[in-house]
Amino acid sequence: MDVLERALAGERLGREDLMELYRLPLPEVAAVAHQLRLERADPRYVTYLIDRNINYTNVCTVACGYCAFYRTRRQPDVYTLSYEEIGQKVAELEAVGGRRILLQGGVNPDLPLEWYEGLLRYLKERHPAVRIDAFSPEEILGLEKLTGLPARQVLERLQASGLDGMPGAGAEILVDRIRHAAAPARISTADWLRIVEDALSLGMYSLASMVIGMGEGAAERVEHLLLVRDLQDRALERYQNGFSGFALWTMQLEKTRLAGKLPGASAYEYLQTLAIARIALDNIAGHQASWPTMGFKIAQTALYYGANDFGSTMLEENVVSAASGNVRRSATVREIVRQIVEAGFEPAERNVFYEIINIPDPREILATDQ
Ligand code: SF4
Repeated sequence: MDVLERALAGERLGREDLMELYRLPLPEVAAVAHQLRLERADPRYVTYLIDRNINYTNVCTVACGYCAFYRTRRQPDVYTLSYEEIGQKVAELEAVGGRRILLQGGVNPDLPLEWYEGLLRYLKERHPAVRIDAFSPEEILGLEKLTGLPARQVLERLQASGLDGMPGAGAEILVDRIRHAAAPARISTADWLRIVEDALSLGMYSLASMVIGMGEGAAERVEHLLLVRDLQDRALERYQNGFSGFALWTMQLEKTRLAGKLPGASAYEYLQTLAIARIALDNIAGHQASWPTMGFKIAQTALYYGANDFGSTMLEENVVSAASGNVRRSATVREIVRQIVEAGFEPAERNVFYEIINIPDPREILATDQ
């Protein structure tokens, strides 16, 4: 059997097989990815999540060359939101039916661990129904350095204060030669994997992410996928808790120092890696289409290249949008539902674990003027 037949038969593909997929015609790879998507996730629905991104501070000492969001302490437009300002944003999310926030910021050395604990308690007291998925592995590494406590202990304290899960951001490409060429101080592959595993071992939610367009080739993309798959195997076996889903997007460089210096990735490369990820990651069922970086039309196409999910509303996303001239900051439920229906699927609202929690009537949603 050739590699695509073996994938269709449910065989787990190894490194050389995955490299072979990068050499095959994309329509053939996509057809297999789509078939596997239909088998591994509900074939009828494309899911979405109502949530809000809150970027609590833009002070960051990591200074990634591809980031247009961060500021150094001395720049005039630095900010750190107060507990009250963050609480107000959570209240606004609740008003539109959202029950989950993604809370992320820069690595701000002026904020002690107690500030984060106090914030979580403040939000949980006032908004007990809202999930808080917060602080990427990079921010946890920053707290590890600031406090001298191991990441696991930092996470335990945050969890005791109300932290529900960790955004899986900052993975980019899990090959140090590639990630440190673009951002020398960026969290290493080993630290990213270690801190995410700590979070998973504590029963927390995390998403597996991947960003292409940093100058990596097929070998590094395959390496990333294998590291994610291995960690998922280990976490499910040891902790009965693993990544909830997988999200792939392309590096957004237009407004960054590395514009013209890093290659970025084309729509073709995005769809190709999305399809190969669906085939490779046989232990993660939920795969997102990235409308914020690829636009709605490519995201609709992605639903035939392995994706079964349209991501989230991402109300008020600042980090990705700061880096790009033309990405969408957020979408309404109505816009997302429209894209899903136009692509030939039925929309279903999900929670962070990709469990369907509401099947709306699209006609009702599309009739509103929101
Ligand atoms: S990407 Fe994150 S870690 Fe890097 S500079 Fe921006 S805010 Fe800091």
